[in-house]
Parts: sequence; structure tokens; C-alpha cells
Amino acid sequence: MTTQAVLQVKDLHKNYNGNAVLKGVQFDVDKGQVKAVLGPSGSGKSTMLRLMALLEPADSGEIHLKGRRIGSKDHKGHTLHLPERQLAVQRQEIGMVFQRFNLFPHLTAVRNVMLGLTSVKGISHHEARAQAMDMLKKVGLENRASHFPSELSGGQQQRVAIARALVLNPSVMLFDEPTSALDPELVGEVLEVIERLAETGMTMIVVTHEVRFARRVANEVTLFDGGVIVEQGAPEQFFDNPQHERTKKFLSHVH
Ligand code: ADP
Ligand code: MG
Repeated sequence: MTTQAVLQVKDLHKNYNGNAVLKGVQFDVDKGQVKAVLGPSGSGKSTMLRLMALLEPADSGEIHLKGRRIGSKDHKGHTLHLPERQLAVQRQEIGMVFQRFNLFPHLTAVRNVMLGLTSVKGISHHEARAQAMDMLKKVGLENRASHFPSELSGGQQQRVAIARALVLNPSVMLFDEPTSALDPELVGEVLEVIERLAETGMTMIVVTHEVRFARRVANEVTLFDGGVIVEQGAPEQFFDNPQHERTKKFLSHVH
């Protein structure tokens, strides 16, 4: 184990109704690393992120955050559900951004960003608002703070969702196809926010179909297929000199 690893996943398995979706996934994400994950639909990418974000338990395997095992384990070492309160505390360390924003529709942008601060961290309303406004400014939305999600474009909603995750000061950010639900003209503004975040040294995993973005921003690219990692490497190596037939075939479809 390197001391630099922020997130480590060991031999992660997950089945749904007897259907093996993750079949032994293993990798490390080092501090400041930007890992792009590519792969066909149904290959288990979202499942992997949900497990890492502690949104559901793995069947077996381990997840370590900064050297600490997260989740809990039974006598076989299997990961189990923790009490909701404890999970909420551990989840703050792992920011997750979904394909479909998942904002609360009845709350304004700033209220959406404040919610985790007041409910989980117990920060005062006044202080939470100040931090949320600061974060909205960082994603270029300080003038949309009092808008409801329905009054915002998809790109703006996704930037609010990014601010909501960032305001909790996570150790790692997980993005699950953050631009897939957006109209093409709105993709750029979201990718730009993510790219700027990468430049600040944020550790992140980005599941994406944006190959050019992956090449430019990631320092490691991973191909996921059938619940396992097929290939991973530096972007130049991965895109220009893939080692596996599966990777060559995948790239021939997306290029
Ligand atoms: P990807 O994000 O790569 O498209 P997913 O992780 O969403 O893949 O899904 C992988 C497989 O797991 C798919 O066959 C999907 O139908 C199945 N799956 C995902 N979540 C569930 C669930 N909650 N219940 C049952 N099957 C699921
Ligand atoms: Mg998915």
C-alpha cells in the first residue's frame, strides 16, 4: 500500500439477483490523481461508484479511504450496512455527482448546497450559507443562488450538484457520467468546472464517454467491461497504444 493512496478498492464483488455485476475490481486512486473510467453501458461503472460512495454495500471486498477501511465488516470481512448516522459521516469524505443532478426540487440552489452542512455537519445556518455562496461562486453561479432547480439549465443544475458535493470538503470526488444527461451545448461548462477542479489537485474518478476530455484531463484511463478492469494506463499509452483487443475495439467505436 502506498501512503499516497486516497482510495483503495480490493477485490470488490457485487451481485444483483444472482447476476454478477462486479467480479473482483481492484485499484488505487492516489492523491491528486484524476482517473477517467470508460466502458460500455451495463459494465458496472455506476455500481462501482455507488459502492465506493457507500450508497450500498458490496457483497465482498474492501474499500479503504486514506488507509482506513470504510463501511464495516462481518466475521468474514464482508462489508455491511452501518447505522445511517455513521454512514452519513463517512460519506462526507466522498463527493458524488450523478448523471441526473439529483437536486432537491423544492430547495433553491443555495439551500441545496447548504443542506449537507447544516444537517450532517451541524454548521449554523448563517455559516452554511456563507460557505455555500462561496462554493456557488467557484462554479460560476453566485447570481443563481436563489433559483430553484426548475429555473436552471441542466448545466447549471449540474454545477450546483458539484458545489453541493465540494462544500463538504471531500477527499475524493466521484463523477458518474456528469454530462451524459445534458444538451450538447451545455456539456462544455460542466467539463470546464471539472477540469478546473482537477487543476486544484482534487483527487477524482470520472466515469465518462467524453474521450477527448479523458485524454486531456486524466492522468490515468481505465477501461471497464463485464464487471472487471480490462486495461488501465496513462492516457497516451491507453489511447495510442492499447494493449488489449477489447480496448482497441472499444476505442474504434468511440473515436
Ligand atoms: P454502467 O454504469 O456501466 O452502465 P451499471 O453499474 O449501472 O453499469 O449496471 C451494471 C449491471 O448491473 C446492469 O446489468 C444493470 O442492469 C445491473 N444493475 C445495476 N443496478 C442494479 C440494481 N439496483 N438492481 C438490479 N440490477 C442492477
Ligand atoms: Mg452508469
